[in-house]
Amino acid sequence: IYILAIESSCDDTAAAVLKNDTLLSNIVATQEVHRKYGGVVPELASRAHQQNIVPVIHQAIDEANIDKKDISAIAFTKGPGLMGSLLVGTSFAKSLAMGLSVPLIEVNHMQAHILAHFIAEENFSKPGFPFLALTISGGHTQIVKVSNYFEMEVIGQTIDDAVGEAFDKSAKILGLPYPGGPLIDKYAKTGNHLAFKFTKPKVAGLDFSFSGLKTAVLYFIQKQVRENPNFIEENRDDICASIQYTIVEILMDKLKKAVKQTGIKEIAIGGGVSANSGIRKALYDAEAKYGWKTYVPKFEYTTDNAAMIGIVGYYKYLNNDFCDLSVTAQARYEI
Ligand code: ATP
Ligand code: FE
Repeated sequence: IYILAIESSCDDTAAAVLKNDTLLSNIVATQEVHRKYGGVVPELASRAHQQNIVPVIHQAIDEANIDKKDISAIAFTKGPGLMGSLLVGTSFAKSLAMGLSVPLIEVNHMQAHILAHFIAEENFSKPGFPFLALTISGGHTQIVKVSNYFEMEVIGQTIDDAVGEAFDKSAKILGLPYPGGPLIDKYAKTGNHLAFKFTKPKVAGLDFSFSGLKTAVLYFIQKQVRENPNFIEENRDDICASIQYTIVEILMDKLKKAVKQTGIKEIAIGGGVSANSGIRKALYDAEAKYGWKTYVPKFEYTTDNAAMIGIVGYYKYLNNDFCDLSVTAQARYEI
């Protein structure tokens, strides 16, 4: 089975080809236009998708070394995401499916972040069901109980900002360029995480909140800079380490709670923030300390990509789970 997968939910135009659960090609065109605005501009994203989608799909088919005739089905991201962005991928997938007379498969982007763990990779093992997925990205923060490929339940999520936003907005306050998450991670490595203390939010159950942290960082920095204009430069690494430590603690507190509630100790992470060295270290420590088994996917499958859309497409194909040409994009789309 050959699946051509298309992803266009946010600011990356991506296409991939899978042969069964094995990846043959994985192309991502990252849109640079947003950088100077310090965040994704929806109108520009949609326009860039329109420019990128044809070359990206061509390249995915070329690199996979297959013929268009070989394609068994087309999988695409139906949502969640930016409407203008989703529409480009959805419309293109529909017309291509019609043109090639192959079935069409709709994919939930958040489900795909989780099933990315099932793309065949030599040096990565797959989580066993049931497992808990911690999906942490620029747009989402979720704990999902995964019972099998298609039976998933969100048991905790953010009530305001996503964890990636907490990183990026804190970085912005420190004058770092967008996206600042990776820079906070970099500077944190040489900083003292106990140098400054930021209070953790009190949120019931397994839900998260990150907007308070951003405000706390803002007020703290403003106050310090009033007293010492060079405060940020002189303490950059310590500030970054302290912010990162607080964010990781918030995530780990809820994860521990989720393990306690469900009795599940298989933990799989996904989303762009799973690149963070602080959260990785905390997870590896938890393996030793609490007997968890943790799974971190290959880096290219953590940020937005079409390979993960393709693996969901493959499992849906096996289930005969197709959609018809009346399907539409959906900006808010629950798991
Ligand atoms: P979504 O996947 O929810 O649509 P997105 O596309 O914005 O959102 P990703 O591409 O998965 O998200 O991840 C990008 C986010 O990950 C950004 O907020 C970025 O700052 C953050 N990030 C990437 N690397 C690191 C890191 N090493 N430490 C902290 N944050 C990081
Ligand atoms: Fe994503």
